[in-house]
Amino acid sequence: MRRRFLFFPLICAKPRKPNVSGLPSNSSFPVLFGKPAELNPRSNRKTVSARYFVVPSVKTGSFNQDLSGEKSYSHGMRDSSNTKSPFDKTNETANFDQETRTADFAEKVRINQQMLTAKSKSNYDFIICGSGPSGSVVASRLAENPEVSVLLLEAGGSDDVPEVMNPAQWAMNLGSERDWAFVALPNSHLNGRSIPLSMGKVLGGGSSINVMLWARGHENDWEHFAEVSGDPGWGYQSVLGIYRRVENWQGANDPVRRGAGGPVYVEPASNPQPIALAMVEAVRSLGMPSFDSPNGEMMESRGGAAIADVIIRDGQRSSIFRDYVYPRLDQPNLTLLTHTLVTKLIFTGSAVVGVEVIQDGKTRQYTANQEVILSLGAINTPKVLLQSGLGPHGDLRKHGIQIVQHLPGVGQNHQDHVSFNCIFEYQEPQPFGNGGGEATLYWKSDPSLDRPDLFHCQFQAPVPSAETAALGVPAHGWTMFPGLAHPKSRGSLRLSGPQVSDPILIDANTLSHPDDLKAAIPNIELCREIGNHSAFSKLVKREAIPGNLSPSQMENFVRNAAVTYWHQCGTAKMGRDPMSVVDSRLKVYGVEKLRIADASIMPEITSGNTMAPCVVIGERAAEMVKAAYGI
Ligand SMILES: Cc1cc2nc3c(=O)[nH]c(=O)nc-3n(C[C@H](O)[C@H](O)[C@H](O)COP(=O)(O)OP(=O)(O)OC[C@H]3O[C@@H](n4cnc5c(N)ncnc54)[C@H](O)[C@@H]3O)c2cc1C
Repeated sequence: MRRRFLFFPLICAKPRKPNVSGLPSNSSFPVLFGKPAELNPRSNRKTVSARYFVVPSVKTGSFNQDLSGEKSYSHGMRDSSNTKSPFDKTNETANFDQETRTADFAEKVRINQQMLTAKSKSNYDFIICGSGPSGSVVASRLAENPEVSVLLLEAGGSDDVPEVMNPAQWAMNLGSERDWAFVALPNSHLNGRSIPLSMGKVLGGGSSINVMLWARGHENDWEHFAEVSGDPGWGYQSVLGIYRRVENWQGANDPVRRGAGGPVYVEPASNPQPIALAMVEAVRSLGMPSFDSPNGEMMESRGGAAIADVIIRDGQRSSIFRDYVYPRLDQPNLTLLTHTLVTKLIFTGSAVVGVEVIQDGKTRQYTANQEVILSLGAINTPKVLLQSGLGPHGDLRKHGIQIVQHLPGVGQNHQDHVSFNCIFEYQEPQPFGNGGGEATLYWKSDPSLDRPDLFHCQFQAPVPSAETAALGVPAHGWTMFPGLAHPKSRGSLRLSGPQVSDPILIDANTLSHPDDLKAAIPNIELCREIGNHSAFSKLVKREAIPGNLSPSQMENFVRNAAVTYWHQCGTAKMGRDPMSVVDSRLKVYGVEKLRIADASIMPEITSGNTMAPCVVIGERAAEMVKAAYGI
């Protein structure tokens, strides 16, 4: 069994302002703040690269050879004279497995990308903006066709660092240069708090800094997508087919629901810690079912508890970028530019013909023969749309931005899962398994609901919000995050000014709908019941937070404890009403040659974590683009 003890910052505290309040001085976890590189004294890039594989970094449009210092690394490599065509990798079951996990392949990638960027080409068939889960899928799928030239643009840099690759270190990315470190506006429903809203700014986007949980959504989430879009291709049966082709599932055989041989390596959390097993046991004892996986039958039912599925392979993060894009970086038709900030769309009339970017402090343009696909995530996709003149005309006019298309829904319908931190003290320090989140619960509090309304993730460390930390956090403990799977509160985004450097204002509006506060309280009580169950008696000393509270104290706790599950979405929603931004084919209304493929298009948040649904969105986008151009 892998035994790891934890190096963990206060993940829900205010970003970039280290806050140690409430953390015990005798903690056995060295709670380390400051720059990420200082966070873990055991950091060692070489070790990570040698155990994983090397990704080159293209710095400001040109190859950064310094980052490929590991290029002499070699073990078990195939013969470099092997001249197999990169396009032999196009069949659906290609897992690009062993062949692309070698230093030999890394070197090929480095040389190829160096050559491609040296050519300084500025025209491509397709430009994909953003290398998060959706963008990685689209870029990879389009590049399957050797006749198609693809440019993938990413504002962040290399993912070849321990904080990304080592599952236990994911939280070290928060507040680092790999985090956009957004912060919501002060919210009166949260006692005036401004909550941090981290998002990935690195190759792989969120899939490189997240908790690695693979959660595919409830069947009725997808039926809802189909209903609002008017396209059965978004329905559960269709999406199930996508998941079967996408997954390289390592758990119990379920050929109806699970896939084998696809690009995404998914395994049930290996060697789950006793605390995770106790949670599943406690839930079962309380009369809710448990399942082998949260992603099969459980997501077609009322719910239950399960050990989580994770994207961890051989003890390393296997991000969506690593699964999809990296294995194609030796191809001549896929160019990747990092440290490249997309700022604006370029139009000819109402058709998008390219993008403007900032590289190395200089403005530059790239043009697309066919289409531009925006996959910048649920905050930056609407920001770039607004900066480009696509949005509510009143707001655009206010900032003197020329209106290309009035789209009142851009930046509206902001959604996120809200959760609350219930913390329990361990009797003895416990090891940390995988990414620390190994057990999960989804449940319909009322069986007549079409989807689960409760969504809990366990986390194997005490993680308060900055405010609940003041209640006293044990040195050794674990946290249950009871969350609302379908909160009714809706937020919005707006520009603070016309310049690219003007920050986007995020009014997350968490708990603004009174039903969310009402739903939070019984949800927390269920969580307390689970955490105080005898299944934990050998492991847990006591409930630390929140404890027995009066109704008014509990309401105050809810407002102080509320944190994001980092599942921001919905800000350029798919649908057919006037507030919809894209149609069922993900094409932006009123504009030609522009699609959006990322969490922004979700009409409503899915029941669980949002990375897997973003993979589906990327797959759907790629299917539709391929169909449209016969490629
Ligand atoms: C800390 C954290 C933990 C999470 N845990 C989980 C989890 O365990 N399981 C799960 O399913 N989900 C989790 N999520 C959520 C999940 O990662 C996101 O829903 C998912 O990554 C969203 O994918 P996306 O394709 O919409 O874009 P994103 O992941 O947001 O990627 C967008 C990419 O575009 C780039 N970009 C943005 N703006 C620009 C620009 N102007 N120019 C160029 N590039 C730009 C970004 O740098 C980024 O790489 C977590 C998220 C975070 C932040």
